Amino acid sequence: MTETTPSIFSRIVAREIPATIVAETDALIAFEDINPQAQVHVLVVPKTERYATVSELASGDPQLLADLVGMAQQIADDRSSGQYRLIFNSGEQAGQTVFHVHAHILAGDLGEGSLVGR
Ligand code: 5GP
Repeated sequence: MTETTPSIFSRIVAREIPATIVAETDALIAFEDINPQAQVHVLVVPKTERYATVSELASGDPQLLADLVGMAQQIADDRSSGQYRLIFNSGEQAGQTVFHVHAHILAGDLGEGSLVGR
């Protein structure tokens, strides 16, 4: 049997690592990024770590991806103006460091350090 180490985000789902959780359903969790790059910087994460990238999620569970986008919109509505960037880094060369699919919501003052320049 192959043992895999739970991702850092699975450990947040399991409450093994603390995080500031802003929304949660049976299938999704959203929490503040530990190293914010904008006034609002929230990660939206499927609880399953089965999908590493957004394209895997899109082909494997399109409804879950749609639900993720819906949760992102709700958070941007609640915490900012409802206008936001939704970023999925896909692959190491694109800056992905956690291989458990997640969306970055960036909203409010995007500042100089945002993931994508203006
Ligand atoms: P990636 O670079 O894979 O697109 O994004 C990973 C994000 O996860 C980074 O923005 C990083 O700051 C965030 N992150 C990494 N470890 C933790 C953690 O333990 N808690 C929280 N809240 N965010 C984390």
